[in-house]
Amino acid sequence: MSLLFRLLAVAGLAGALWVVTLPAALTLAPGAAEANEAAYRRFVKSFRATARKSGISGELYDRAFKGLTPDPVVVKKNAHQPEFVLSAGQYLSLTVSDTRIEKGRARLEELGSVLDKIEARWGVDKHVLVAIWGMETNFGLFKGDMNVVRSLSTLGYRGRRARFGRSELLAALKIVQRGEAPLEAMVGSWAGAMGHTQFLPSNFTRYAVDFDGDGKRDIWETIPDALASTARFLSSAKWQAGKTWGYEVALPRRFNTKLAGRRNARSIKRWQALGIKRVRGKAFPRPADTASLFLPAGRNGPAFLILRNFRVIMRYNAATKYALAVGHLSDRLRGGEAFARPWPGGVRPLNTAERFELQRRLAAKGYEVGEIDGILGSKTRAAVKAYQKEKKRRADGFPHPKILELLRADEGAAIAEDAAAVAPKPAN
Ligand code: CA
Repeated sequence: MSLLFRLLAVAGLAGALWVVTLPAALTLAPGAAEANEAAYRRFVKSFRATARKSGISGELYDRAFKGLTPDPVVVKKNAHQPEFVLSAGQYLSLTVSDTRIEKGRARLEELGSVLDKIEARWGVDKHVLVAIWGMETNFGLFKGDMNVVRSLSTLGYRGRRARFGRSELLAALKIVQRGEAPLEAMVGSWAGAMGHTQFLPSNFTRYAVDFDGDGKRDIWETIPDALASTARFLSSAKWQAGKTWGYEVALPRRFNTKLAGRRNARSIKRWQALGIKRVRGKAFPRPADTASLFLPAGRNGPAFLILRNFRVIMRYNAATKYALAVGHLSDRLRGGEAFARPWPGGVRPLNTAERFELQRRLAAKGYEVGEIDGILGSKTRAAVKAYQKEKKRRADGFPHPKILELLRADEGAAIAEDAAAVAPKPAN
C-alpha cells in the first residue's frame, strides 16, 4: 500500500473514487507525506526532553507515542477554511432543533437536584450548562473518538497552532502522569477537547471538579463532574449569577443600525430611549444592565441586546453564532418561545421524519451521508452540498426543505423513466 493510500485509509477516505478525484496538488502528497512523517518523528523525539522536564516519565511518553504518525484529518482541519459557512439562521435551526430541546428538557428532569446543587455552588444557570452539553456532544452522544495525543502532537509539530498543540499535549500527558485518567481516556475532538462538555486538557487541570465525590475528576463518564467543571469554568470567566445572556428585541422603524456591535455598549435604559423594545411586549427586568446590539442577520432578521454573559459563553467557543445558540437553547429548555422574528431567507428546519428521508434519499443516490440517524452532521451536509452542486444550486450545505423536494422530484422522474421504458407501445 502506498503511503498516501495508507494515510487516506487511516482517514477513512480510501474509497477508490475519492482517490481518483483528488486534486492535482494532493496527488503529489506521497513525498510530502513522507517529509511530514519525518518532521513529526523528529518532533516526537525532541519533545521527549521537554516532557521529561515537566515530570512525564519516559515510560509514559514512549507508550503514548508508540506507533503514532501525524493525523491527516487533523492536518486537514487545521489548514482548511471551514467547509460550511452557515448563516446564523441556518446554524441555529440545525443546532437548536426540536429534538435537541426535547432531549435537553428530559436531561434537566433526570438530573434534577444535581443541577440545582451545581447552580447553587457556582451561580451558573443550569439551563446554560445543559445547553452547552447539548451543543458540544449532543448530551454525551458524540464525545469524539480521536486519539488526543496524536491530534495535539499533529497540531504541535508544525503549523499555526503549534504552541497550542504543544502546551495542551503536555497538559494531557500530565493528566495521565498524575493518575487522574488512563492514557486510553485521552480521546476526543481533533483539537484535543474531551468528555461530555469537551474540555481541553489545560482546562481540565485548572477547572475540573469531582462533584459526585468519588475522589476522581471524571469529565469523560461522570455527568455531574462534567457539568460542574463547566460551571466552574464559566464562573471563573466571570459569569454573572442571576442574569441572562441577552434578549430578543424589536428595532423602531427608523433606526441607525451602525449602533450595532460591541463598541456601542450602553445601558438597556438608553437603548429603550432609542426606541428598542423587547419582543412580545415583555419588560426588561434589569434596565440598568449594560448591553450591546447584535444583528446576526442584519436589519431584516432577529435582533438582540446581548449582555456580559454572552461574552462569557464565547469563552467556551469564540463564535457569536455559538453563543447565540447556547443562549437561545437555554431559554427554550426553560420553556421559552422561538424567536419572534423569522430569519431572512427562510430556514424552516426539517422535522425528524424529513431528516431521515433526506439522508435515505441522498444515500440512495450514492452520496455518503454516514449513518442514517436523522442527525444532520458534517457528512450529511457535505452530501447536501454535493447534491446542490449537481443541481446547479447555491451550494451552502444547508438542508433546505427545497432540497428534499428536489430529491423527491428526482425519484419521480426516475420512476417515470422506468415506467416509460416498460410501458407497452400505444396501439395505433
Ligand atoms: Ca467524580
